[in-house]
Amino acid sequence: MVEKSDLMDKIVSLCKRRGFVFPGSEIYGGLANSYEYGPAGVELKKNIIDAWWQYFVRSRPDMVGLDSSIILHPKTWVASGHVAGLTDSMVECKNCHTRTRADHLIEGALPEMKVEGKSESELDAIIQKNKIKCPTCGKVDWTQVRKFNLLFETSIGIVQESESKVYLRGETAQGIFLAFKNIMDSTRVRLPFGVGQTGKSFRNEITKGNFIFRTLEFEQAEIEYFFDPETTNWEELFETWKKDMWKFVTHVLGVKAESLRWRVHGDEERSFYSKRTEDMEYNFPFGFKELWGLAYRTDYDLKQHMQFSGANLEYTDPHTNKKFIPHVIEPAVGINRLMAMVLLDSYREEADRVYLALPPRLAPYKVAVFPLLANKQQLVDKAKEIYNTLIPHFTVAWDDRGNVGKRYYSQDEIGTPFCITVDFDTIEKDGMVTVRDRDTKEQPRVKVEDLVAYLSQKLA
Ligand code: ATP
Repeated sequence: MVEKSDLMDKIVSLCKRRGFVFPGSEIYGGLANSYEYGPAGVELKKNIIDAWWQYFVRSRPDMVGLDSSIILHPKTWVASGHVAGLTDSMVECKNCHTRTRADHLIEGALPEMKVEGKSESELDAIIQKNKIKCPTCGKVDWTQVRKFNLLFETSIGIVQESESKVYLRGETAQGIFLAFKNIMDSTRVRLPFGVGQTGKSFRNEITKGNFIFRTLEFEQAEIEYFFDPETTNWEELFETWKKDMWKFVTHVLGVKAESLRWRVHGDEERSFYSKRTEDMEYNFPFGFKELWGLAYRTDYDLKQHMQFSGANLEYTDPHTNKKFIPHVIEPAVGINRLMAMVLLDSYREEADRVYLALPPRLAPYKVAVFPLLANKQQLVDKAKEIYNTLIPHFTVAWDDRGNVGKRYYSQDEIGTPFCITVDFDTIEKDGMVTVRDRDTKEQPRVKVEDLVAYLSQKLA
């Protein structure tokens, strides 16, 4: 049993050692809250995105996809409220100049304290009253709490004028509202329907990130599900989305249900336009934290974009000709957070090995192929032949370093479900290979010509 307090360190070290996640810009001394996804990590991340896309977009008749721009018209973010509202409350230590989020500072020092929805002056009062020390230098000498906008600014063209100021998107969802009219005009969608998209978002996070849980740039997977509030009961729809999200995390990503819970946003925390917001939370080593947000945003966003752009974003009911602005329910998740959860949840330690019990569809490689000995050409040739036969069907790893035991050890650590070893019997006697199962450690012999069928059935 791995101690919860050690688990994060173990995952961070495994991720670096086995090519899942590297610290960002490491050769330049690193860049806070940024990471690179290595050869194993990019496969895992891509598999999570593909599973999400398959589950929520491709396999539903009421969903379509979109890939909008990272840089949108700057008015987008004024209309959406992000320029005024995508802010964190920040304090700076006057002694050592450490900047930190006021809510995180308080949560760190006073774990029982509820800070959601508190104003800057309320946060100030809590810090002063409890004489909270700077986690870096230990002094109690804070500036006043002030708001800090998370949108990254940049400019278009070569002249830095205010007219050319744009933002890197702080969420992917706004792109869906901007494309709403074009999607309606170019497809046969009828309410209720949803638009899903995945892609990078950017937030100038000032806080310590807890590995890939909170980073400057991150991959989001967001849906806007549009409906007519007069004909669709939003409470029922909300519950259906909760069930779908839960099922995706437990059935598709294979995460234990006991590590998950729902948390309802209170009135002070919820945005003024939202009728209900709930977060699905995962029990990370640093406590239950938001994994996936679900919000009923009413018709706020489309209305705002109508007002700021002048475009008509109304929907016309094809049967009754009623014109109205659809309402939306928005499930919004960060793929990197899903990935952190999947890594933490699948980590297993046994006396002689560490392995990731990843669901096969998420594993970076489905199968690894080894020649028993790397210096026996006939074994290498046969193993290469098998590797080439499998490559059109699965993601396959090749390993001929060290001995077979070491290769199992490293494939276990990246969660490869099956390892195939070609030995002398394969060539000289039975035309069979050893297929070792990651979870059971069983090693049946399988005929080479049956491998694709055998693995397909096991991995299904
Ligand atoms: P938090 O309270 O953790 O900052 P949020 O409520 O601001 O999150 P949303 O705006 O609801 O987050 O974004 C939707 C999802 O995007 C979140 O549930 C989370 O999974 C992911 N996400 C948000 N910010 C980050 C980040 N900086 N790094 C990684 N993922 C993020």
